[in-house]
Amino acid sequence: MFNNVADQVKEAAGFLKLSLPALKVLITPQRILKSDVVIKRDNGQSESFTGFRIQFNDARGPFKGGIRFHPQASLDEMKALALLMVIKCAVVDIPMGGAKGGVTVDPKKLSSAELERLSQAWVKAFYKYLGPDQDVPAPDVYTNEQVMAWMLDEFERIAKKKSPAFITGKPMARGGSAGRDTATAQGAFYVLNESLKKIKLGKKKLSAVIQGFGNAGFHIGQLLHQAGFRIIATADSQGGIYDIRNGGMNPELLMETKKSRGLYSGCYCQASVCDCGNYKKMNNKELLETPCDILVLAALENQITVANAKKINAKVVLEIANGAITKEADQQLTKRKILVLPDVLANAGGVTVSYFEWLQNKQKQTWSKEKVLRQLKDKMTVAFRHVWQVSQGYQVSLRTGAYILAIGRIVDAMKQKGRI
Ligand code: NAD
Repeated sequence: MFNNVADQVKEAAGFLKLSLPALKVLITPQRILKSDVVIKRDNGQSESFTGFRIQFNDARGPFKGGIRFHPQASLDEMKALALLMVIKCAVVDIPMGGAKGGVTVDPKKLSSAELERLSQAWVKAFYKYLGPDQDVPAPDVYTNEQVMAWMLDEFERIAKKKSPAFITGKPMARGGSAGRDTATAQGAFYVLNESLKKIKLGKKKLSAVIQGFGNAGFHIGQLLHQAGFRIIATADSQGGIYDIRNGGMNPELLMETKKSRGLYSGCYCQASVCDCGNYKKMNNKELLETPCDILVLAALENQITVANAKKINAKVVLEIANGAITKEADQQLTKRKILVLPDVLANAGGVTVSYFEWLQNKQKQTWSKEKVLRQLKDKMTVAFRHVWQVSQGYQVSLRTGAYILAIGRIVDAMKQKGRI
């Protein structure tokens, strides 16, 4: 995964005629932190896990990036995600650098008390490298606002003072921001709307297919449904559902179906009445190849590769999941005139509202949800227009355009700091 992101950086750096030594600095993390994270299990025994924090680049501002608790969390993956954060923050032009961290652990095997101790132990392990002006963590896979609150408690206990700007994605009662929970989907929605104006697809009742039905997938589904798009297919890890009539499904009802039946199972239910005749089961391979106007990727990395890029049958692909499209597949889609809205732009709404949260904490302010959404819309719209301009100017894909834009900004900051 790291090589995939680094290759993107190298390609964009080529357009900017960046020197090799400067490129090397750009794709090398400033600091790799690795530590044992030891907790007491509920049975009284100690257990040690591996914890990480990759502080990739802080030329534009404090390191910023999520913490994941996952059994497959690895150094390579975290380096890739940290570099993506550096690029993403620069694409939306917020004064933050990039980082990522986590623990290699299966959090589903820990009790709530053990998770709390793990969160505290992670902060204890990296405390001296963290802080509102140094490195500001956030939630990621299998961490949430509760984990952020536990981490904040531990940080403030060690620092012996209140410090809400230490971490973002925390509960509103602890200084979290309105709109943070839906920010990624909302940002992606603004980017999609801007892109539809450019390619003049905005007038009809467009069809959408959504892979992934978690935080990002469900919320983008709601926004699309409310805006009149037809959601004709969607899937989660257990498989999906396809609307044979192509009329469009309501994500709220899908979620209810999932909750009451355990999975969609090819049925679309309203109250206790389920229609299983006009809907069919669909696996993920079929889902990705379904003809549609908008294909939303909101699940996992590496979903469109050279193996299936030729079979993608959408006009626009909205890549919310990090690294969902490989570099080679992206080139194939672009060649086929399929517009790809790349992850570093499409999912940057999350970190943008995280930045707003940090700003509110630093300025001792509380913004209304309306203000957060207004500011987010401005940021995402401007970012899309800049990326579009750059990609048109260099005659490259939006992904390469986004990287060129970001790297130009990062290099300027690094030069100002005398790092290159
Ligand atoms: P989530 O855990 O809430 O949801 C993930 C969804 O993907 C679930 O519905 C899960 O069932 C589904 N899924 C898992 N494996 C699948 C498979 N093989 N096929 C189809 N669906 C599958 O996660 P999320 O927060 O919605 O994030 C989704 C993606 O978006 C991730 O790549 C994440 O890194 C990225 N992202 C999320 C945010 C955010 O703020 N939520 C911000 C930036 C990037």
